[in-house]
This record gives sequence, C-alpha cells and structure tokens, in this order.
Amino acid sequence: RTVYVNGDYLPETEAKVSIFDRGFLMADAVYEVTSVLGGKLIDFEGHALRLNRSLSELDMAAPCSKEALLEIHRKLVELNGIEEGLVYLQVTRGSDGDRDFLFPGEETQPTLVLFTQNKPGLADSPASKTGIKIISIEDVRWGRRDIKTTQLLYPSMGKMMAKKAGADDAWMVEDGHVTEGTSNNAYFVKDGVIVTRPLSTEILHGITRKAVLRMAEEAQLKIEERLFTIDEAKAADEAFCTSASAFVMPIVEIDGVMLGDGAPGPIAKRLREIYLEESIKAAV
Ligand code: PMP
Repeated sequence: RTVYVNGDYLPETEAKVSIFDRGFLMADAVYEVTSVLGGKLIDFEGHALRLNRSLSELDMAAPCSKEALLEIHRKLVELNGIEEGLVYLQVTRGSDGDRDFLFPGEETQPTLVLFTQNKPGLADSPASKTGIKIISIEDVRWGRRDIKTTQLLYPSMGKMMAKKAGADDAWMVEDGHVTEGTSNNAYFVKDGVIVTRPLSTEILHGITRKAVLRMAEEAQLKIEERLFTIDEAKAADEAFCTSASAFVMPIVEIDGVMLGDGAPGPIAKRLREIYLEESIKAAV
C-alpha cells in the first residue's frame, strides 16, 4: 500500500512520524474518513469543510489547501487501485522534538498523514441487509465531541463492550439521553417520524447526517431534531445510524429488545438507497 506523509508518497513500511509527535503523545490530532465508491470520493467537500472547522477550533494550522488535499486523496485512490474503500486523513500539531503540554510555536509544522483502506463490497455489506444489534452504554467522553479528534479510546472500549455482549455497536447515553453511536449518529423512527438529536458540542456533526437529513426532507419525510431516551428508541418502529463508512445502517435490536419484526425498517432501507444513489452521482 502506498501512503502519504508530509508531501511524500511512500510504501507503508517506509512511512515515519516522530515519537515526539503530539498526535502520538497527546491525541493532539484531528482526522477525517472519506468513503470511495466507484473509485470516486463521497462528499469530499463536506469532509474538507469539517476538517477546517476542527483545525480552527483547536488553533491548529491547516497543512495545505482544500484543492491540494483533494489531489492527495485522488492520487492515493489511484495508486492503490481503490474502487470501494476509505481514505483516512489525520492532521496533528506535529512535534518540536520534546514533550510539553503547551502548544509549540508557530514554526512547528503540522503532520499530515493519509492512507487508504480497500473495502470491496462496502456499499453492499451483509450487515446493511440484516441490520445490526446495539447496546447502550454511558457516555463518558470529553465535552467537545463536535471536534473530530483522534481521542478514540472510549469509542474503542464501547465497541469492545458491544462485542462482549454479542452486539455489533453501542449508542452512548448522557444525562438520560442518547448522544450518538461510538462512530455514527443515532436515529429512530416512530409513526413515520424520524427522530435524531440536534447538533451541539455533545455530538459530532456527521457529514452523512447532514446529507441524509436533507434527502429525507426532499423525500417529504418528517424529521424531529430533539433529545430522546434509549427507552424511546427501544419502543420505536425502526432505528438506524449514519456514518461516512457505513452510510445508513439499519438497527434491529437495542439492549436485547427487537425492533418491529427484527428486519431493517422501510425508512432506513429507503434512506440508504437514496443516500447511495445521490452521493455516488455527486462523487468526485
Ligand atoms: N459520531 C461519531 C462519534 C463518529 O465517530 C462518526 C464517524 N466519523 C459519526 C458520528 C458520523 O460522522 P460522519 O457521517 O461524518 O462519518
């Protein structure tokens, strides 16, 4: 696999980052994951905009222009022959050659790393046909979840808890309300109304969420952005989650409670179809 590090395209075994890099020592880093379908990037613009927002919220310098970033994405997709898969991008505050809590001076260059993941069958995954099972767990993450940082230890632990419980993923609950999934935004449908938590600093502003809500509106579906409990979701007709790598993923079980007849719901299925069709058409 060819990867990108600070201006160079290299075999993955030759790519190197300093052990003093603040991304490594302090999770002082932000990232994006863009999916590739038909060899093209899905919603690159959305990811580039969010990356800039994450960087500016952390007073981190942008490593390069949006145009340059698009070229790097495209070149890696081409060099690695990716038809279906993901491009992972990470920017860290870099390293001034020592460990210190204070941010280094402006002379320190950010680190920019990108690599691809080949995922044949991504758009047609078995899970999307059967739906997935989730559990609910406490949300103990920090308070700026709108910034897409690489602090992913708790989401990893959440996925491990789900696996141990025989489930596929977890939704997190704070003050009695669902925040989001470990790596996705959360929705349920009751009596034809799609319910999802409004945007705030408590959740990541999903690129897929934005697109799916726009498409749901265009399809004349009813949407309520409000806080909701896990019990409301368990009593729903259907549930689903969204992310750049799973698109719209139906959920058929929450904490062992089967939703509806246990099969993916009609609204989740329809939104997945619309999302894939429209975003493939608009892919770059
Ligand atoms: N919430 C969290 C915590 C996530 O990690 C992700 C995945 N990046 C999402 C939501 C979904 O965001 P997106 O649709 O931009 O992938």
